[in-house]
Amino acid sequence: MVGKNLKQRLKGLYFKHFTSNNPMSELKFSSLHLSKPVLNNLDELGYTQMTAVQAMSLPHVLQNKDVIAQAKTGSGKTAAFGIGLLNKIQLKQYEVQSMVLCPTRELADQVTKELRRLARFTQNIKIITLCGGSAIGPQIRSLSHPAHIVVGTPGRILKHLDKGYLDIAGLETLVLDEADRMLDMGFIDEILRVMAFVPQKRQTLFFSATFTNEIRKLSETIQNNAVNIKTLDQEQPNSIAEYFYHIDTDKMLKSIVNVFAKYEPDNAIVFANTKIDAKEVVRYLNDNGIESAAIHGDLEQYQRNDVLVKFSNHTIPVLVATDVAARGLDIKELSMVINYGLPFEKNVYTHRIGRTGRAGKTGTAVTLFAGKQSHKAKDMENSHRIFAKGSALQNAQAFILKASNGTLVIEAGKKNKLRPGDILGALTKDVGLPGKSIGKIDIYDKQSYVALERGLINKAIKGLKSKGIKGKRFSIWIMK
Ligand code: ADP
Ligand code: MG
Repeated sequence: MVGKNLKQRLKGLYFKHFTSNNPMSELKFSSLHLSKPVLNNLDELGYTQMTAVQAMSLPHVLQNKDVIAQAKTGSGKTAAFGIGLLNKIQLKQYEVQSMVLCPTRELADQVTKELRRLARFTQNIKIITLCGGSAIGPQIRSLSHPAHIVVGTPGRILKHLDKGYLDIAGLETLVLDEADRMLDMGFIDEILRVMAFVPQKRQTLFFSATFTNEIRKLSETIQNNAVNIKTLDQEQPNSIAEYFYHIDTDKMLKSIVNVFAKYEPDNAIVFANTKIDAKEVVRYLNDNGIESAAIHGDLEQYQRNDVLVKFSNHTIPVLVATDVAARGLDIKELSMVINYGLPFEKNVYTHRIGRTGRAGKTGTAVTLFAGKQSHKAKDMENSHRIFAKGSALQNAQAFILKASNGTLVIEAGKKNKLRPGDILGALTKDVGLPGKSIGKIDIYDKQSYVALERGLINKAIKGLKSKGIKGKRFSIWIMK
C-alpha cells in the first residue's frame, strides 16, 4: 500500500515537473535548506526548478543519507549529488572531503565543470580531476596542496592512492556516477580496491541511467540503508521520434548519407559499435560532403578534447563516436542521433538516443541495421517506433553539411586571467569583426577556443597578433 502511494506521488511529481507552468513549491530549490548564495547561483544558472531526480534525491542527499538513484541521461544527476556534496564542504579544512568516480575522462571533465558552476560563489574551493590518459606528473604536483573535491576514473585514482599521493582519510562523501557503466567497463576491482582507502563512516551516493543486479549487489556491499530512487519512463525518453531502417549489409555506409539527406539535421552524433566502424564512417561521410570527426579510444587526450570543443561550439556538425567515448556527454541542442548498427544491448540504445530531444525539444533517432541484426531489431519493436525498409531512404536529394564557423585557438586561458568578454572585445572593438560572426567562446586553463565565421578567421588571427588581447600577445592558430 505504502509502495503504491509513493509511486503515485512520484508519478505526480514527474508529471508536474514536465508539464506545469506553475511549479509546485516542492520543485523549487528554495524548499531545500540551502544558503542564499547557493540559491542565487542556481537562479543565475537558470535552474528555476528541480528536475525529477533532483526533487526526489536532494532532500535525502542533504540529510547525509546514502542514495541510489536511477534516472535517464540528461536529467540533472550531477547537480543531484553536486549540490549535496558542495553543501558539506568545509573550505578551511584542506583535505579531500568528496570524491566522484566516473567511467571516462570526458565524463569526469564534465562533472568537474558542472561542480565548478555550482560552486561559482565559493572562493578558493579546489576541485581536481584525476584521469588516466593525462600525464601523472602535473596531477601529483597538484595533489601536493590537497583538494577539497577529487573527480576521476577509478584506475588513476587508485594509482594515486596506492602511491600515497592522494589521501582520502577525511572523505565525507563518495559518489559513483554512471555506476552501471563503470561495471560494464570492468572497473569493479579498482572500485573495490579504492574502497579500502575510504573511511567507514561516510555518505555513499550511486547515480546511473540504468540499474543491473550487479549494481544492486555493489550497493549492498558499500552503501548503508540506501534510499532507492527511480524516476519513471526509462524506455521512452521525451519527444524523440525513433526510426529503424533495415539495410543490406553492403549499403550501410551509403545509407548514412541518405539519412542525412532525408532528415537534414543541423548536427548529429553517429554511434558506431567499434572503432573500426567509427573510422570507416567518418571517412565516408567526409568524402561525401558531410563534415565530421570521430571520437574513440585510439585518440590521444588532446585530440579528443579538440574534437569535443569543435562539436560543442558547432564548428563540426557531426560526431562519430563509440559508446565508451561518448558516455555521459552533455551536448546541448543535438538534432539527431544515428545508430550505425544496433547497439549490442538495449540499455545502450536508450543511452544513445537520450542525447537528442533534451530540454523539451523534439529529437530524431535513426537506427540502421543490417540483415544479421534483424532478430535483435524485432525485439526492439513497439508502438511508437517506426520500422521501414532501407529502400525508403533512397532517392533523397544530395545534401551537404558543413559548418560555417571554424575554431580559433588562443594559447592563453584562465591562468592568464582571460575572460570571454576580453576576447569578444578584442575581436569586435580592436579587430573590427561584427559581433554576430563570433560564436561560442570556451576558456580553459591554458587555452581558449573561439568559434568564428570561416571567412574572417585570417583577419582575426592577423588582427589579434598585431593588437594583442588586453595588451598581451599570444600564439593563435586555426584548429585543424
Ligand atoms: P545527467 O548526469 O543526468 O545525464 P547532467 O547532470 O549532465 O545530466 O545535466 C544535464 C543538463 O541539465 C546540464 O546541462 C545541466 O547544467 C542541466 N541542468 C541540471 N539541473 C538543472 C535544473 N534544475 N534546471 C535546468 N537545467 C538543469
Ligand atoms: Mg551524468
